[in-house]
This record gives sequence, C-alpha cells and structure tokens, in this order.
Amino acid sequence: MTVTNATDELDPPPLERLIGFDTLSRPLESWYAFVSRLIRANLLNDVDIRKQLPADWVRCAFAPHEVQTSDLAVPAPYIDRLPDVALKLRPITWQPFPELSSAPPECLRGCPRCLEAGYHSYAMQGDAIARCPVHDEELVHRCPHCDTQLLWQARTPGLSAFQCPAGCPLLEGVHSGLHVPHEDRITAALAEHLAWTQALSEAIAFVSGPVHIAYPPYLAVASLRMPPLPSKGLLPALLHALQGTELTVPAFASFHEQSHGRWTLKVQPWTWDEADSRDETHLEAYRRAFRRGAYRTYVPLVDRVAFEQWLARSEAAHGKWHDGAVEEGSACATFGLASYLVTNNELIALRRLLARGSNPGLACAHYTQVLIELLEHARLRRTALDQLQAPSSHVTVAEGFDVIIRTATGHWRVSGETRGDDASRHTWLDFREPAEMAGGIIHVMRRYGPR
Ligand SMILES: [Zn+2]
Ligand SMILES: [Zn+2]
Repeated sequence: MTVTNATDELDPPPLERLIGFDTLSRPLESWYAFVSRLIRANLLNDVDIRKQLPADWVRCAFAPHEVQTSDLAVPAPYIDRLPDVALKLRPITWQPFPELSSAPPECLRGCPRCLEAGYHSYAMQGDAIARCPVHDEELVHRCPHCDTQLLWQARTPGLSAFQCPAGCPLLEGVHSGLHVPHEDRITAALAEHLAWTQALSEAIAFVSGPVHIAYPPYLAVASLRMPPLPSKGLLPALLHALQGTELTVPAFASFHEQSHGRWTLKVQPWTWDEADSRDETHLEAYRRAFRRGAYRTYVPLVDRVAFEQWLARSEAAHGKWHDGAVEEGSACATFGLASYLVTNNELIALRRLLARGSNPGLACAHYTQVLIELLEHARLRRTALDQLQAPSSHVTVAEGFDVIIRTATGHWRVSGETRGDDASRHTWLDFREPAEMAGGIIHVMRRYGPR
C-alpha cells in the first residue's frame, strides 16, 4: 500500500484541473493558443511542462506544420468533443491550396491584437486572410515589437508560449487569455472564412502541379528556402484569372487578401490525350532519368515526338540548341544540355511535376509543355545574360507559375509570372545557388563568369 501511495504522489494532477482547461472548447482556436494558455495561466516552467502536459500535446502545439492526419487521435479523449479536430490541430486544414501561400509554415502568423488577448487560430496561418476581421490589423509572422520571425520552436515550450524568440511577450501585460474580448465575433468571422475555403476547394481541383519557379532576382531578396514560397497574391490572381471561365467562385470577404501582388496569370482550356495509358511505373522511370552534373544536365522526354517537333522548329528559327541533344537511355530518351542553361529551381519543379501527378497521362502532357516553355525561356535568358547591357524581360522575370485545374466548366491551364524591378537585373551578374541533387554547388552565371 505504501508503495502505491508513493507512486500516486508522482502522478501529475488531472489535466482538467489546470486553469484554462475549459477553453479547449473554443471551436476555431488553435492548439497552440490552448496549450500556450495552459503554460502561461498555470505558470508552468519547462520541468512542469514535461511533468504535467502530455508530450504529444506540446509537440502538436509547437510544431503544428508537422502534425499528420494519423496524429489526430492523439489528444483523445478530451478533444473528441470538438466538432472538427483537424481545424484545431492542423494549420493546413484551413488552406484550400497550401502551395499558393506565401506565409512561412515554420512561423506563427496572427493578429497582434488577438495575440495580446491570448487568442490565435490556424485560420490565420496561410496568407488568405490579410487583416483581422475584428481588429482590422494586418496579420504578421514577425514580432510586433522587435520584428524577429515568430518561429514556433525557437526556444523551449515554456519560452515559446505567447512570446517571440527574442523574448518579447506577445500577451498584453498580465493578460491570461482566459477571457477573450469579442471571442464570438472572431469565431463567427472565422466560420465565414472556413465556408469560403471549403467552397473554393470544392469548386477547384489541382490535377497537375502547381509548378512554382523562383528566379534569382527574387531569391536575392528572399531568405534562402528549398523550395521557395511564392510571393504574395497568387491565390487572388488565380481566382481573378478564372473569372473568364464562367466558373462561379465565392466572393471575397473584406478581410481576405485581394491584392494580386505582382502576379499576372492567364487561363486557357486544357486538352490532352485521355486515352494515354501511361502509369506509375512509367513515371518512376522518367523520375530516375533526371540527372544533374556540373557540366551536363539530363531531363527525360516523356513525349518524344512532341519534343522533337518543337526542337526542330526551335533550331530552324534560332540555330543549334546550345549543345543540347536528344540521347537514348535504358528506360527513356533524355535531352542532355549544358548545366549552366537551367537553374536548380527549374529542374526541381520539373521533377516534382512528375512526382506528384495523380493522373499519369495528364501529368506527362503537362510536363512536356512546361519543359518546352522552360527551355525556350532558358535559351532566351542565356542570350540576354550574354548581352546584359540590353534590357531583357528574360533576366527580370522573378517567378513562374503553372497548374492544370479541373472545375465544373472543364479543364484549364493557369500560368503566368511575376516581374522583378528593372534594378533586380544586376543580381544575375553573380548568381549562384546550392545544388539540390549532387550536394555540390552548381553555378549558373554568365558564361565567362561574373565581371
Ligand atoms: Zn485580431
Ligand atoms: Zn520580439
């Protein structure tokens, strides 16, 4: 009996007894806000946190972008009472198209005023919401006091709960977050946003891509990230482009991001050979055919006929294709070209296109188009780089985008680009990027090096 008593003393008190536990029932608030409130309101230090909170709870709160669907059973039994567990635990559930978001997933993003009151929702993580529906404040992923990025796991859980990595409190004064002013208004606005995102994901399906390629003028101003995030405004630009297809998409609310940023997209009907019988085995062979070396880069030709027709037209118009040549391979033919012609970002984008295709025939048709246009662009860029004194749009293009979508009105290809400032052109003079494949460095710069 005495032994049992000793064990009982080591058991943490029931979770229900923690101050603020009942705020678990806030339906659209994030797990981060809930766990952070337990930490702050109960003055838990890191030792207490380890003893009193389940490790999975802490992990889900401070690494929410890593929460998988299989993790959603973890917080049971308490969270079972909530209508939708995924909304509370997975930021990605709130985003109709996470690939279009410019907000870094490794950072907390929210309304400074809501955070001051101890409130945060994963609805605010992507960049679809620009301003807080209640406070009209611009949402931020940087500390409002010192501008440090609000990394989820910058310090220990005790110090990352409602604090910036540099130590500024995000809560106002001694606010406990137990009572959130205007909580019902915030919840109502976020419910409206949820209905909007769900209507969008029902109306629009990405069936190939998206391909997003960032070019050096953009990389020069963005922190290095693999793969890079698109710049702001891609979702509004995409919805705007779709207006011409007679598709009805839900209207923006006043708090949504509506700026197109620098994106210019166009939409065109998409047709392909639906009888194309290629399967996953073919895709795997194509994926293996990608090779990147310091001097030669090889890309698979999934539609050799279409590619060779383009190559013949292209060479007739512009002359020999910069040492590019079709080569036979064991599984498929490849196009071998000088490595300095294509960037790592371009190559990664091509590989991902074949890696993600849910319909292999459609993915192959899309890949062929993207490859041809990408090589056209690469050649014009090469020529422009060798004559840098002549202004060229091919050296200022900052990001490219391409996706095949399915809607009630058919299949559509949406593609376009952003443009950097003319001044960004000089960044091409000495541009280098880490190679993704060989682990070495691939230099893509002027043929005779920087001057
Ligand atoms: Zn707010
Ligand atoms: Zn700070």
